[in-house]
This record gives sequence, structure tokens and C-alpha cells, in this order.
Amino acid sequence: MNQGFIPTAEAVYKLIQELNKLPGIGPKSAQRLTYYLLRAPEEQTKQLAEAILSVKQTIKLCSICFNVTDSDPCSFCRSDQRDRSKICIVEQPQDILALEHTGIYKGLYHVLHGAISPTEGVGTDDIRIKELLERLKNSSVDEVILATNTNLEGEQTAMYLSKLISPLSIRVTRLARGLPFGTELEYADDVTLTRAIEGRQEF
Ligand SMILES: [Zn+2]
Repeated sequence: MNQGFIPTAEAVYKLIQELNKLPGIGPKSAQRLTYYLLRAPEEQTKQLAEAILSVKQTIKLCSICFNVTDSDPCSFCRSDQRDRSKICIVEQPQDILALEHTGIYKGLYHVLHGAISPTEGVGTDDIRIKELLERLKNSSVDEVILATNTNLEGEQTAMYLSKLISPLSIRVTRLARGLPFGTELEYADDVTLTRAIEGRQEF
């Protein structure tokens, strides 16, 4: 684009720019979405805008497991249907969606909100590890399942957690190797993920 020249109305240009900041949305997709929204019924665009504002205004983190929730504690932590002897550790809240989709895991979760990554400056204090250890103290948990991603950061994080948790006489398992290296949990298919949960191994 020529400098200083914007070949469309400023509001259109602004929306393209904002959409372009979203993950997985390149400039072309941002343009396509913008022109789609221009043609869409006003009601639809209003609902979209309100849905975006509403997630920011009503969603908070569960004070126990740090999952996103609109009520604290979240529905997992409140439920008496879940197996309280197991906690599955994930990097991001969306990983819970992937695991729940398999329908096979019935325990609780703990969301780290990241993985240890020295290259990106994410240290052990930057993710919810302290909170996890606090939670495990005096709990009835007998197994911690490490379900961090199978990339370098995920493996480093699993290794670190295993060293911290093993001395607490809690069984530490890791999702089975069915997941190819480099897999982000949220993109794993149900069959692979189910096998990975069922085949989890001592870590
Ligand atoms: Zn919770």
C-alpha cells in the first residue's frame, strides 16, 4: 500500500487492520471478512461486536484451576461428577475443550497459561506453577497428568513439573507418545487424543 494513501474509507481500513492482528488471519482474510461484514445484516454485526465485548467483560479465571469461566469456581471445580483424585495439567484453556471433546477424561484440570520458554523469556514464575503446588498440598490428588504440548517448551515444562511433583508421592504421568512431536493439543484429533490419554505413561 502506498504510504499515506488509503484506498478505502478509513473505518473499513481500520477494521481490516484490527482483524489482521488476530492469529491465523492474514491481510487477505482480513479484507474478505471486512467486506463480508459490510454486506452482512446490521443485527449480525451487532451480535458479533457484543459477543466480543461480553467475553472480555464477563469472563474471568477460575481461582482454583485458572480455566476461563463466568462463575468462580468454574464448573469443573464445582462439579461432584468429576474425579477429584486426578488433575490434568494443560498449557491453555482451549486445551481443555480438546480433551473434553474426547469424553474420556473425568478428572480435574489446571491451566498453566503458557509453557516455560527461556528463548521467549517465560520463566517458571510466569506460569501458574506456584498455584499448582499450593493446590496439590493437602489435597486428595493421587495422579497428575502432564498434558502440555509435545514441542520443546511443552516437554521442558513437563520435565520441570515432574521433578517438583514426584517428591510429593503423587503419580506423575505424561500423555502417550501417540501425539507426534510438535503437536499443539488443541489441534490434535479425538482418536489420537483418546489414545494418548488411555496410554499415558509414568513420567
Ligand atoms: Zn476451576
